[in-house]
Amino acid sequence: MARPRPSVDELYTAARAGNRRALGRLLTRVERGGADAEMIGELADPDAGSAHIVGITGAPGAGKSTLTGRLVVLLAQAGRRPAVLAVDPSSPLTGGAILGDRIRMSDTTEDLTVAPEVGDRTFIRSMATRGHSGGLALAVPLAVRLFDAMGYDPVIVETVGVGQVEVDVVAAADTAVVVMTPGMGDAVQANKAGLLEVADVFVVNKADRPGADDVRRDLELMLDLSHLTGQDDREGVAGYRPPIVMCSALEGMGEAEVWAAVAAHLAELEAGDGRRRRRHHRIETEIRARLTQTLASRVEEAMHSEMGNELVARVEEGALSPTAASAKLLERLLHDT
Ligand code: GDP
Repeated sequence: MARPRPSVDELYTAARAGNRRALGRLLTRVERGGADAEMIGELADPDAGSAHIVGITGAPGAGKSTLTGRLVVLLAQAGRRPAVLAVDPSSPLTGGAILGDRIRMSDTTEDLTVAPEVGDRTFIRSMATRGHSGGLALAVPLAVRLFDAMGYDPVIVETVGVGQVEVDVVAAADTAVVVMTPGMGDAVQANKAGLLEVADVFVVNKADRPGADDVRRDLELMLDLSHLTGQDDREGVAGYRPPIVMCSALEGMGEAEVWAAVAAHLAELEAGDGRRRRRHHRIETEIRARLTQTLASRVEEAMHSEMGNELVARVEEGALSPTAASAKLLERLLHDT
């Protein structure tokens, strides 16, 4: 006979007691979305709120996974309990795994050999939410809160810095790390993607390659410029200038400096009310994402309702303008709320 599917409550209790498999199953339900994810969202709240949330973003291939793997080992060896959420909307397969005494962050990265207790202190999870729209924006904050509630600290969220949702996710962290590399015109790309404004720490990775100093110089210039135009008021710390750290994650050089810069940023936040402001921003982002998602599905329902079909038909016949049709549907939506 098949065993009954454990409830969210049962899994949560087991995960709180240190059962990693139960945490993995909760994360799977978060990833899938729907009613279970909603329940988890309500459960995760009371215990969460103290972890340092660090976003790491950059172009594909910049070395984010390699760097994250190095940071995880560094942190776990220092007695911390780091968790990683690797968000990859395009690939459900790659992402972190702890294989016995090895950590592999993605298919392209090499395994890092670690002491068994390092693996025990660490939780690495990849998340792909290609399946449902708006999934990423809803699932990421929930998964972060779960890790936080389970006592993981820091919680590192790794995303590909391409879409608006990914940028939002990183901007909602306490500390946002933007990874660049030589030879890809990265500083300019990052500027276009809006990453320069959200970065608290810049990492120039692959510093073993030629051109790393050029990237650094480009970044310094852009930062000078944003300082001159008064655009450098980052949420939480007024007048903060993000440091630029050179690193070669592949060779295991510079990750300690990267973490030192991340920790220094946290200290800056904590010196004032930056931590509270970041959290405020994070809560706003999450609520906005939920609201957007709810409204979007209501709009879809309305479009496919009898009234929606009728209105579309009337516009087709030339009896009604699209503007008037959408106004009628909006009225109906608001009325039904
Ligand atoms: P991600 O897509 O940003 O997560 O990048 P990965 O961590 O998967 O790395 C992409 C490729 O760049 C892999 O082949 C890595 O081995 C390589 N790589 C990562 N860091 C460095 C580095 O510091 N120097 C060099 N030369 N290669 C690196």
